[in-house]
Order: sequence, then C-alpha cells, then structure tokens
Amino acid sequence: MAVLDYVKEEVRKRNPHDVEFIQATDEVLASLELVAQKHPEYVENGIFERIIEPERQIMFRVPWVDDQGKVQVNRGYRVEFNSAIGPYKGGLRFHPSVNLSIIKFLGFEQCFKNSLTGLPIGGGKGGSDFDPKGKSDGEIMRFCQSFMTELYRHIGADTDVPAGDIGVGGREIGYMFGQYKRIRNEYSGVLTGKGLTFGGSLARTEATGYGLCYFTEAMLQDKGNSFQGKTVVISGSGNVAIYAAQKATQLGSKVIAMSDSNGYVVDPDGIDLALMKDIKEVRRARIKEYAQQKANAVYTEGCKNIWNTACDIALPCATQNELDEAAAKTLVKNGVIAVCEGANMPCTPEAITVFQENNILYAPGKASNAGGVATSALEMSQNSLRLSWTFEEVDQRLKGIMENIYRTCADTAKAYGLGDDFMAGANIAGFEKIAEAMMAQGIV
Ligand code: NDP
Repeated sequence: MAVLDYVKEEVRKRNPHDVEFIQATDEVLASLELVAQKHPEYVENGIFERIIEPERQIMFRVPWVDDQGKVQVNRGYRVEFNSAIGPYKGGLRFHPSVNLSIIKFLGFEQCFKNSLTGLPIGGGKGGSDFDPKGKSDGEIMRFCQSFMTELYRHIGADTDVPAGDIGVGGREIGYMFGQYKRIRNEYSGVLTGKGLTFGGSLARTEATGYGLCYFTEAMLQDKGNSFQGKTVVISGSGNVAIYAAQKATQLGSKVIAMSDSNGYVVDPDGIDLALMKDIKEVRRARIKEYAQQKANAVYTEGCKNIWNTACDIALPCATQNELDEAAAKTLVKNGVIAVCEGANMPCTPEAITVFQENNILYAPGKASNAGGVATSALEMSQNSLRLSWTFEEVDQRLKGIMENIYRTCADTAKAYGLGDDFMAGANIAGFEKIAEAMMAQGIV
C-alpha cells in the first residue's frame, strides 16, 4: 500500500462528486510518494492532508439584468487554496461549465505552479458559470460589477489577487477593477491583467503563450533540438493559444492548425496570425471564418479531431481533458516529439501514460503555462513600486523564469531518479517549497 493512499481516500470521502479535483490530486499525490518516504515529518505534521484541503471556499449569488430587462442569476466562486508562500493568486474563469470541482482543481494546481515560479505567491482560483459568449458589452459590464460587489470583501493586494482565465480578458478585468476601486475607494493592484493605462504590465497579454514556448524551447534545446523548422498544432484560439502561435512562429516553426469550441482549421501555409487575431480578438467571431478567407485552409466541425493533424510539436491550449488516450496514440503514430500544455490539465491521465511510454517529451501545464502568473507577479511588483518596466524588460524576466522552471523540473526529476518525468519533477519541486513554509508556520 502506498504511503499516501490515506490522503487519496480522504479526498474522495470529502469531495465524492468532484471528478476533476480528484483527478488533479491523484496525479500530484502519486508524484509525492517518494517525498513522503523521504520526509516522514511531512506525514507526521499532516502536510498532505492540509495541502489537499482549501483554506477557504466562497460561493455566492451573482444577480444581473440583461438587455431585455430580465433578471439573470449566476453562481460565483473563489477558492483560496493555500497562502503558505504568499497571497492567494490565480485567475477567474467565466464559462458555463464552471462548478466547484473545476475551480478546486484549478486552485490546487495553481499552488504548485505559483511555487515553481520562485515568486512569493500562494494559490487560488475563482469564476462563474456565466457564459460571456453572445453577450453585449453592457451585459458583460453589469455582470462583472455584480460579481465584484460580492468578491471585493474577500480580496486585496496583500490578501488575494485574481487575474483572467477562460472568458476573462482585459475587458472583464477592467470592469471588475473599476467596481472594486469604486466600492473600496482605493487604487491598488488587486487584480492583474489590467489595461496599460491603469497599472497593467506590458507583456502580460502575451505572457502565458510566450512562456509556454520559452519552456518548450528550453526543453527541446536540452535534448539537442528546437522549434526551428518544426510543424506545430495548437488547440484553442484564445489568449494562450494566439500568443503561443506567435512565439512558436518567431522561433522558426510553422503553426498549421488551431481550434475553437466549435471546430478547427488546418492551414498548410502556416496560420495567418493577423487574420486569426482579427477574427478572435477584435470581432470575437468563430474560427470557421478563417477558412472562408484563406484558399488553402480547411475547416472541420468539432474540435476534438484537431489532434489527427500530423505535427512535430503539440500545444494543447484550450481546456481540461481535451486530449485523450486515442488522440495521444494518434499523435505518437504521426511522429510527435513533444507535447507541452498551455491549458490546465488538458491531457487525460491515460494520454500522459501514452506519451511517457513512448518517450515523448511531455511538459505539464503547471510548469509550462506558469508564464502568465509569473508575469502577473511582476505586475504586482510594478504596482507596489509605482513603476512600469518596458516590454523587453518584462519579456526577458519571463524568459529567465521559464528557463529556470524547466531546469528545476528536470533537475528535481533527476534527483529523485525519475529520468525525464517533468510532471513528477514539477509536482515535487512545487510541493517542497510550500511544505517547508507550512512546516515553519505551525499547524494553521
Ligand atoms: P480564452 O477564453 O482566451 O480562450 C479559450 C480557448 O479555448 C478558446 O478558443 C475557446 O473556444 C477554447 N475552449 C474553451 N473551452 C473549451 C471547451 N470546453 N472545449 C473546446 N474548446 C474550448 O482562455 P485562455 O486562453 O486564457 O485559457 C486557455 C487555457 O489556458 C485554460 O485551460 C486556462 O486555465 C489556461 N491558462 C490560462 C492562463 C492565462 O494567462 N490566460 C494562464 C495559465 C493557464 P471558444 O472561443 O469557442 O470558447
């Protein structure tokens, strides 16, 4: 029997319906077996039981009025997971699929990710089952204001600093910041991902996608390879996907496919990013339009089959569990060499096993997509200093942080005799820093 089986049982007992949360905790606890054996003091001090239980879970009603004058009600969440190494930090997700399980899994992952950045930030996550798709700007604003009218009492620049995630970009952060400032009568760095005229950081918009590519490039170079001349498939066409595509192209590869939740496009000439940005960022339209404007591009309805497109590098950047065992087998059959996660938990456990069994370089999201939160922490520093750094300064720091994260994952995996298991390396390294801080702070 494994040392940490009792913790897995505890998770199931307390969260019987939370499938995503159970999936995320199972993965991390499996990696931590060796740590538990090496550090019996962590077991004795209940570190594992404490780390899987959020410090605080907040659920609230979000009423708002739509353009027809009808009252709508959504549910809001903020899970403040762990503050051992800094204020809670993590994004807000607005998507109809949001529930407590999804927010808890994201909050749990966030703790390890934030720890890996080397910056002083704890983990949290929040959001709502509100669907921003098809809503007017006025409806988005009224929803964001109502959401913040409850959330404001739980957050603060030194307490809990939310940011964006799926369905929450610059527009939503702006509306929420405005409402926070109005209620609190206080101008502080309480949210990150702000607009550049009110405390935002240059390069934050690009950070997660760019960071993903910096991590991937560091990993490839360590193995005597690089992006140069490779073909790349990227799922999603949101914030992470678009800037991953931009950086992957700058690094000499050709991005040949992208998707949204309706379908995917393959463009053998390489995705035209100006057109993609116009469709997805400016007009908030569907990806289908891309193929209507590009002679050689082909659109396929349904997003799952994007992984049938042969490529050297796969970057899943849409959502959790979007790449399953069958997709993983197809990627391997078609010669993929690296799979690096831009989204949180996009590969199912079975898919990860396929990659590991076939010696495919696999980078877990909590390491490879940490560039967004790292740059958010840089935004917090700039807000505290009342300074703003240049794009190049922030980008250089981001690159350094991502290269460090890769080194930490690789070195930790080696130190535990786990070869190139970067997933275990990330889980162990992220955990160790939090565990040490929790040990020092007593039973809290
Ligand atoms: P966006 O809302 O900007 O984009 C999400 C993209 O994924 C869209 O193309 C969307 O399609 C697609 N998508 C969303 N849900 C589904 C679904 N259920 N099935 C298929 N496609 C879907 O979000 P982000 O780019 O910010 O986030 C993407 C992922 O990256 C998430 O897992 C997020 O947690 C993670 N992440 C984001 C960070 C950030 O800084 N933004 C930081 C670290 C991780 P459609 O337009 O049709 O909805």
